Amino acid sequence: MKTKPFWWEEAEPTHGERRFDTRKFSVVIIGSGYGGLSAAITLAEAGVTDVAVIDAQRIGEGASSRNGGQIGSAAKFSLDEAARRFGLQRAREILDDYDQAMPFMLKRAATLKDAFDLNLSGSVSGAHSYKDLKAFRAYRDGLSLDKRASVDVLDADEMQAVLKTDIYRGALVKHDTGSIHPAKYIRALANRARELGVRIFTGFRYVGSTRASGHFDIRVEDVETRNTVQLSAEKVLMAANGYVDPSLRWLRQRTIPVQSYMIATEQLPFDQLEELMPRNRVAGDTKHILYYFRRSPDGTRILFGGRARFQTSTAEQSAVGLRKFMLHTFPSLERAAISHSWFGNVCFAYDFCSHAGRMEDGVHYISCCNGGGISMMTYLGHRSAEMMLELPGHDRGIVNSHFPRLYFYNGNPWFLPVVGTFYRALDRTARLFDKAG
Ligand SMILES: Cc1cc2nc3c(=O)[nH]c(=O)nc-3n(C[C@H](O)[C@H](O)[C@H](O)COP(=O)(O)OP(=O)(O)OC[C@H]3O[C@@H](n4cnc5c(N)ncnc54)[C@H](O)[C@@H]3O)c2cc1C
Repeated sequence: MKTKPFWWEEAEPTHGERRFDTRKFSVVIIGSGYGGLSAAITLAEAGVTDVAVIDAQRIGEGASSRNGGQIGSAAKFSLDEAARRFGLQRAREILDDYDQAMPFMLKRAATLKDAFDLNLSGSVSGAHSYKDLKAFRAYRDGLSLDKRASVDVLDADEMQAVLKTDIYRGALVKHDTGSIHPAKYIRALANRARELGVRIFTGFRYVGSTRASGHFDIRVEDVETRNTVQLSAEKVLMAANGYVDPSLRWLRQRTIPVQSYMIATEQLPFDQLEELMPRNRVAGDTKHILYYFRRSPDGTRILFGGRARFQTSTAEQSAVGLRKFMLHTFPSLERAAISHSWFGNVCFAYDFCSHAGRMEDGVHYISCCNGGGISMMTYLGHRSAEMMLELPGHDRGIVNSHFPRLYFYNGNPWFLPVVGTFYRALDRTARLFDKAG
């Protein structure tokens, strides 16, 4: 078994430039994931020159080249819950941002020259309990007529036609979502950014910046030599998501980095997998500690993700737990060997909302994919570029929304095992007292 992302077989991250021939930029963006590169593309498309993207790792080597490749974007809260936190107007705008994220990502995708296995054959979300199935029905009934046409709610028998497992009470099927090859997508974004004149530097860690009159003095450290390089820029954007450095206290106090794990099976007969997951739809479920899974773009492997353990785990350790979850879902895969196991960091906010704005030191940020950020971080990169361009109307929805912090929290998520155990207990209890009707 290889302990690297399956995606890297076809699109392993590459280094960008390793030498600075200029030290002065208009905008410096930290993080070469979807968020950072999308911000750079919007700035360059608006005519901003001298934009630099800097990453401590290779291009997109954070979560963006390691994820499950499922591209939907749904808020993890209702309008009422958001209204209590942000006020009704802001709450409506925030939910509108969640609706806009995937259409924006598809619009941006249409401008990319490189293919990345975009597949819009839909998604299936398994209902863990009858209560969740009822919530799916209420969700569908609350949609406008045109949106309702793209959604189906199926009971456990009906769902066998879209996902062949008996562990769910039914499912919500969305016909207008789907999947990508995540590492090919990041490569396509990087190529588009470079085509527009954006410079991408890798192997440099952002250490800090000081605001001087009209610009920022920025310190980055060469990861290999440990030499410090001084740069300057008019604006700085932090797009580090779950990889934010512990020294960046303002962001760390507001964010919880969490590891997410995945495995891939060896190649299996196409027809066997077509029976389990017809038409290569992607799948997830409604548990607190959810499973998410799909087939590889060529349809011959199952890629299965989730949180196998709440302690920090190695790829070998997590593979054992994930394989168990996969067999729970699809017992017929008993003989399938695991070819790859890997993990990466996602980032949660206490309010489960994504955030963008400016920190007290003037540095812009986008943060908190809350587990699913292919569409959202692509979109938020664009929105934060609009903010840096000071375009009218940029202060709405997620941009400049209140970003809560926990006062007893110093950035080290020591409580995750406790929270994990609690959520697992909730998932078990939901099935113990589960009744149809
Ligand atoms: C296993 C897994 C499965 C997932 N599945 C899905 C899915 O199916 N669908 C979905 O929508 N989302 C999924 N996600 C989440 C998705 O991958 C992320 O939301 C998205 O990639 C975040 O993009 P980003 O640009 O914000 O951050 P990242 O891609 O994480 O990029 C942040 C970058 O910042 C760099 N960085 C951080 N600090 C510094 C510093 N001080 N100096 C220099 N560089 C720095 C890091 O090196 C990193 O490359 C998954 C994530 C994981 C890990």
